[in-house]
Parts: sequence; structure tokens; C-alpha cells
Amino acid sequence: MKKTKAIAIILIINIICTIFFSIYPSKIFAATQRIDSQISKIDDKKYPGIKSMIENLKKNHNNWKFKVMYTGLDWNTVIKEEAKHGRNLIGANQKNYSGDWLCEKCEKERKTYSGGNWICVSSDAVAYMMDPRNSLYYEDVFQFLELSYDKDSTYDTNIIKSILKNSFLDDGNLDTYITTIINRSKEKNVNPYYIAGKIIQEQGTKGGATFKMKYTVNDKTTYYYNIFNINATGGTTSAIVSNALDWAKDKGWDTIEKCLIGGVDFIANGYITIGQDTMYFEKFDVIADTYYTHQYAQDVMYAQNQGEKLRRILEGINATEHAYTFVIPLYENMPSSTCKRPSTTRTNSDDVNNTDNNLNNNTSNDNLDNNKPIEASYNLGDANNDGKINSGDLLLVKQYLLKVKNIKEEKTLTAMDINKDKKINSGDLLLLKKHLLGTYKITK
Ligand SMILES: [Zn+2]
Repeated sequence: MKKTKAIAIILIINIICTIFFSIYPSKIFAATQRIDSQISKIDDKKYPGIKSMIENLKKNHNNWKFKVMYTGLDWNTVIKEEAKHGRNLIGANQKNYSGDWLCEKCEKERKTYSGGNWICVSSDAVAYMMDPRNSLYYEDVFQFLELSYDKDSTYDTNIIKSILKNSFLDDGNLDTYITTIINRSKEKNVNPYYIAGKIIQEQGTKGGATFKMKYTVNDKTTYYYNIFNINATGGTTSAIVSNALDWAKDKGWDTIEKCLIGGVDFIANGYITIGQDTMYFEKFDVIADTYYTHQYAQDVMYAQNQGEKLRRILEGINATEHAYTFVIPLYENMPSSTCKRPSTTRTNSDDVNNTDNNLNNNTSNDNLDNNKPIEASYNLGDANNDGKINSGDLLLVKQYLLKVKNIKEEKTLTAMDINKDKKINSGDLLLLKKHLLGTYKITK
């Protein structure tokens, strides 16, 4: 009798557990993800290099705040998932994204995606773009900007005003729009700076084809607005406008106000409130419960490009040093050294860490990148021509000055002549150092 009772109890517990885990498995899994603002407590053995890079940024940008997101995910699993065919793409026919950048299988099959202009990238390319250590520099850090509304922060109306001043929204009602943006952002838990920046990212300062769209039926004309380019997809401009218009019509966005409110709601509900609250997380979905499947864009460069655009907008109004918060992802079992930029030639090896570091790779030129606006690219200071100004360039200039490295390429030499005095000497080295410390800005 006792035995039967015990078996019955075990059975009941079993059933309860089965039901519980089938309803809440992801919620339990999600509990392993956590955000922490204690940078000093990051375990350097588990997450090599991260702590010192964050501390370096903090040192040079006193107002900036950092948090880390312990994703609880194994690095190799993440790369394997993100490198699934078609999940991460790059614009086709670009010289600087060739060779090891591309997925070998899809390349062999000549497979294209998204209307034929996009191709699948390799796992090495995914690893390079996802490794946070490649982006923990002033140039690239804005992809980690926290996009949710920080209740401990005060948002400066003047920054939003500066971003939108003289833009297509500066039509006499700008103050009203700003109030709408701030109030709705707060209500929906979105960073209002991000919203303001996104407006310019999407429309430019003059306003693009989807800002104000004319719709005439039976001689009655209505204007619809789709400032955030929601549903603005298609192979041609007219298809894009038509899809954007359909969306705006459906939502009844016949005033700028309605479009701003609806747009903030869309951005909030789609990504930010479910934890994809940086541009990096919008692109690389390492957040529970959707894991890898809920991505804002397939373009592997999306986070970096959007972050860069926002940084440039903030630079334009001298607002890069405000109290921004950045959220840096941490993965389990990360490689001890930073994932290298893939070679633009095929090395027949899956392991790019075995190949030479492309310090003098002259085949790459970011101006060829159709995904990046030309004004967003620069060569000055970028001695190793990898699209970034960082310690790699500093090393190269040092090696050149110490005569450890003989450099003859015109392009590399031009990039190293930062003060443009036709000589490469300690003056250029100093400017490069200052740039990396954030006390000087290399401009074209
Ligand atoms: Zn592929």
C-alpha cells in the first residue's frame, strides 16, 4: 500500500514537472541571461579582453556608462546558429567582401538572397562581426547603445532638438514633435535619442520618398507619412514607396504626429521591449526567447553601419559625450584572442586564425561598400585599411617609424600621414594616439 502511494506521488510530481517545463521552458532558460553593471567584476579568464577594453572606453569618455549582458550562450553555438545559410548576408559583388567573407557552399551554388543582390556570408565573417572585442572602440561602440528608456537618466531636450533642427521636421512645429517623441518614448520605454537619430538615419535631413506620400482616390488627395520606413521593402523605389504607403494607410498615419506615435510604438513593441535593446541585439538575436530567429535585418553589417550613422549624427551636433549607456554582450567559451577579419581571398581554411593578419591588405576599400554611405568611410588614419581606426593602425605606424616594417603602398602611406604634411613621423603617431584616446578626432 505504502509503495503504491509513493509511486503515485512520484507520478504526480512527474506530470506536474512535464506540464510546467512544456509551458515555461524558455522562461527558465531566460533566467540564465542577466544584465550587470559591475564592469570590475567581469571575469577576464572567461571573457578575455572585454573588461580592459570597456575600462579603456570609460576612462576616455567619463560620462559613458556600461553594462554587460551575460547571454549564457556558448560562443561556438551562437556562430553556428547565426551562420546558417541566409541568416547573415552581405551585398553582392563587393571587392572588400570576397574570399573568406563568403559562405563557400552558397558561393559554389551561386545562391543569392533578397531579390538577388545579397549573398550568404561565412561563419568567419559572422564571428568577426559578432565578436564584441572588434567593436569596443569609439568608432563602433554605438551599436551597443541601450535603446530602452533609462529611468535613471535625464534626457536632454536640446540634444533631440539639435538632431532634428533644420531637418524636414523643422517646419514650425518641431517643439511639438519633440514633446511627442519624448512622451511616447518614455511611455513605451524607448531611448528618445535613438528615435531622433533614427528619424535622420531613415530619412536624411531633407526627408526621403517615404516621408510624405501622396495618395489620390476619386480626386481626393490624402498625404500619408512613414518616417521610420516601416514595411518599406522592395526591389525598386516605387515598390518600396508603395509598400511603405500601404502600411501608413493601414495605420491611418495621415499626420506627422500620428506617424511619430505609431512609429515609436512599432520600434518599441517589435524589438526593444522584448530585450533586443541595442542595434547589435536587433541584428544578432542572442536574446531569449526568440534566439537567432528574430532579426531586424539580414545585412551582417547592419549593427555596425547603423551605430556608425548614429555616432556621426551625434558628432555633427557635438553630443557624443553625453551620459549614454552601452550594453556589451558576453558569451561563454569565447576564443582567447579576438576573431580576425576574414581574408578577401579564399584561404581554403575554415580557421581564419591560422591565416596571416591582413595588415597590408590593399584590396579592401570601404568606399566600394554599397551598404555604407561614402561619407561614412574614411581612409585617413586607417593604415591597415580594415575600415576602422584602432590599435592595429597605431601598431603599423609604430612599426613603420621603427623601420620594423617596410611599407611602399601609396594608399597605406597616405592613410598614415594624418597631419597631411607629406611626411610620416612622430607627429602623425601622436595624432593617432590622441584619436584613440578620444582627445582628437581624425577627419578626412
Ligand atoms: Zn550559405
